[in-house]
Amino acid sequence: MLQYQIIPVTSYQENCTIVWCDKTNDAAIIDPGGDAELIKKAVEKLGVKIGKILITHGHLDHVGATVELAKHYNVEIIGSGVDDEFLFNSLPEQCMQFGFPYIKPFLPNKWLNEGDTIEIGQLTLNVLHCPGHTPGHMVFICPAEKIAFVGDVLFKNSIGRTDFPRGSYTDLINSITQKLLPLGDDIAFIPGHGPMSTLGDERRHNPYLK
Ligand SMILES: [Zn+2]
Repeated sequence: MLQYQIIPVTSYQENCTIVWCDKTNDAAIIDPGGDAELIKKAVEKLGVKIGKILITHGHLDHVGATVELAKHYNVEIIGSGVDDEFLFNSLPEQCMQFGFPYIKPFLPNKWLNEGDTIEIGQLTLNVLHCPGHTPGHMVFICPAEKIAFVGDVLFKNSIGRTDFPRGSYTDLINSITQKLLPLGDDIAFIPGHGPMSTLGDERRHNPYLK
């Protein structure tokens, strides 16, 4: 079974999530936005084996601790989509803009594409390209466990901002209504910030989707 622990990090309380397979103890870190020591302590306490780092999109508050943790665990950085390359290259500018300590630009070891799959022990995550908040934003879904990791595409009662560079409101709404919601009302999701919800609750109650 899929297990997870959410660790809110940085002043933006970004939902860094440790995901693991409880049959094999293999784990991945999704969106390590910062506070590397906090994440390391959580991993140590769980006793899981980190095998990869997954990135939904190239915003600073989702990637800030990535390089440090990739070195620490000697693992690859996977995602987001290549259309976010300009964001990884502009990390120092993002730091200045948001008042974060300086972070060197870096690029993932692998870019993801829609339809890719990611193995974590006996778990399989499907990759969906959901542009709008950023052009290369990826969402990870575990259909067997009915859970999705949606980054900053969709939140409980809200949607991702589209006023950042290369954001698109039309693309975001299309990503949500044509890609996420059809996955089914019973899919629970962990957003990039704030509390969890289900696709059904958002389809029925999210004021931005009416
Ligand atoms: Zn973002």
